[in-house]
This record gives sequence, structure tokens and C-alpha cells, in this order.
Amino acid sequence: MGPGKKEWKDAPKPILVDPTDAIVKVLKTTICGTDLHILKGDVPAVTAGRILGHEGVGIVEEVGSAVNNFKKGDHVLISCITSCGKCEYCKKQMYAHCEDGGWILGHLIDGTQAEVVRIPHADNSLYPIPPKANEEALVMLSDILPTGHEIGVLNGAVKPGDIVAIVGAGPVGMSVLLTAQFYSPAQIIMIDTDESRLELAKKFGATQTINPAKNDVLKIITEQTKDGVDVAIEAVGIPETFNICQDIIRPGGHIANVGVHGKSVDLQLQKLWIKNITITTGLVNTNTTSMLLKTVESKKIQPEQLITHRFTFDQMLEAYEVFSNAAREKTMKVIISNG
Ligand code: NAD
Ligand code: ZN
Ligand code: ZN
Repeated sequence: MGPGKKEWKDAPKPILVDPTDAIVKVLKTTICGTDLHILKGDVPAVTAGRILGHEGVGIVEEVGSAVNNFKKGDHVLISCITSCGKCEYCKKQMYAHCEDGGWILGHLIDGTQAEVVRIPHADNSLYPIPPKANEEALVMLSDILPTGHEIGVLNGAVKPGDIVAIVGAGPVGMSVLLTAQFYSPAQIIMIDTDESRLELAKKFGATQTINPAKNDVLKIITEQTKDGVDVAIEAVGIPETFNICQDIIRPGGHIANVGVHGKSVDLQLQKLWIKNITITTGLVNTNTTSMLLKTVESKKIQPEQLITHRFTFDQMLEAYEVFSNAAREKTMKVIISNG
């Protein structure tokens, strides 16, 4: 309802607009750090009255005449990225930049924190849910797992034997931690100021944790490694944490920025160029979602372990309260279910 103002109230039921649309009854959704950015007024493209949410699973209620892959009654995973599958960017698998899509859900059109949502370009923007799948786990595939995997792990080129540092142990940093292990790094160092998140990171495979509020990160990493880390992944979105990445990276290393930054960072190019450092950025493309779905189905990764709190739709405002006070409430990811 505008910066700082939120309500949970009745809204008109969405209807088919284009023949490529599907109408989906939302069974489970969640809240993303980006929704909190929106409520703070950091994303001015979101206008008052917009229904937020870009993650969830549901059941197809109705499809437009041009939808071929889905029918009424199908259980589906909703991708945070909408894509037509036909434009130049879609053909390069850069779905984030689809000329008739990209990140629009809960941003430029109404999103998934609702009983019913309209999904444009349904054939390309929904994924069928395999029978007997853990639907709560799949909610983590709408956004955070592909984000951590594509923009953190793949952009950072994590390889067997690497020393990887992840700055930020929120849901996105944890998704980096889970998916980095596909590529067998030797060490994964998790860096965060929240001790309870660092504890959780150890359970998920971090070999070491560092709290920069209590310790000198550069000193510890210099003592313990030859000359720094192979890959430094920024998953917070502030200058301080980008600085940590610039400080600890070794020659030939990769800095993969995942965090959404609200202001410029102090790029230490004069130190980085001579170390042959690669810096990458990006908005999640969701081009690895199908692959990740298989790893969740086979229990290679168990992202449902990120869920700390569960609510029903009528507790939506309470869910926001708990999610926005993560350190106090020990929140990682919340699930909000339809009844
Ligand atoms: P989050 O706020 O839950 O996690 C951020 C973590 O950073 C917290 O655990 C916090 O304790 C820690 N932190 C804060 N200040 C710190 C400091 N000075 N040093 C060390 N740690 C510090 O956020 P999230 O949901 O995990 O998302 C992380 C970032 O990823 C956000 O900026 C989000 O907007 C961004 N994001 C990017 C994409 C993309 O496509 N690139 C997609 C989704 C989210
Ligand atoms: Zn998100
Ligand atoms: Zn497209």
C-alpha cells in the first residue's frame, strides 16, 4: 500500500488476460528479502496496491487457449522469473531479461502472496511438480536456490578443491552453500554477523565460520590460506561486504556478487587488475531450475531445512513481522500456506 504500509485484504480474483496465461491457486508461498526492500521503498517501480510475492507452488485453475504444457488440476512450481521463451534474451537463456517478462511477479504485476495469481507465459514460467514431491522444499526453487547457484556458484566458477568464502548467511547465502557442494570445494567459509545463522551454516556444510563483528576476517583468512580464497561470493548487498570479498580474493580468483546494492561500492581496481580477478554480477535467470528440481527430488539437497516458521494466509502480517526480525526470531525462510 506504499512504502511502510501493508495490508492483507480482499482483492478481485485475477482472470485470464492473454491466451498464454494460467490462473493458479496458490498453495504455499513465502517472503523474500526483496519484498522487505520493496516495503522500505527501495523499488520505486512497485506502485501502491500491488500484491507482492514472486515465489510459490500451486494448482492450475484455468489456462488460456495458447497454453500447451499445463491443464486444470496440475500442481506447479512458480518461477520468480516470467519468460516468453521466444525473444532474443530467452533464446540465450537470459530469462531475467525476457522482452515480455523477467522479474515482473510481485513487482510490475500482482504476485503470489495471494490465494490466486495470474501467471503470464505459463508454458515457460511454470514447472510441473513431480508426484509425491515435498512441495515446501520446492518453494525454495522459485528464487533462492537458482539465485545462489547461478549468480553465486556458477558465476563464481566454483571447482573441486577450491576455497570458497560466502559473505552473508541469509536464505540466498545458504542456497549458495548448499549448491556449491555439488562441485566439491575443499573448504567453504561462511561469514556473517548473526551467530545463529553461522551455527546453521555449519549444519549445512560450512567448514568454517567467521563473524566480522568479532574478528578480523582478512587476518584469519591470511593466516589460514596461502594467499586468500579462490572464490568470494557476496550475498548481502552493502559496500562493507563487497570490501571483504575484494580483500580476501587470491590471484586468479572470482568475486561473484549476488547482493542487491542500493549504493555504489569502492571498487579497488588498482589492486585487483594485477591479480587477474574476475568480477561477476547478475539477476537470476532460472535457467538451472529444472536441474535443481532433480537434485531436490533425489534429496541430494534438502532445502526444506531452511524453513524455520510456518503460517497460514490469514497470518500474513505476522509472517512479515517474524521474517523482518530475522535475528530476533531466528528466522531463515517462512512458509505461508493456504489453509
Ligand atoms: P538477508 O537479509 O536474509 O541476508 C543477509 C545476511 O547478511 C544476513 O544474515 C545478515 O546478518 C548478513 N549481514 C548483514 N550485514 C553484514 C555484515 N556487515 N557482514 C556480514 N554479514 C552481514 O538476505 P537474503 O534473502 O539472503 O538475500 C541476500 C541478498 O541477495 C540481498 O541483497 C537480496 O536482495 C539479494 N538477491 C539477489 C538476487 C539476484 O538475482 N542477484 C536474487 C534474490 C536476492
Ligand atoms: Zn526473491
Ligand atoms: Zn522472452
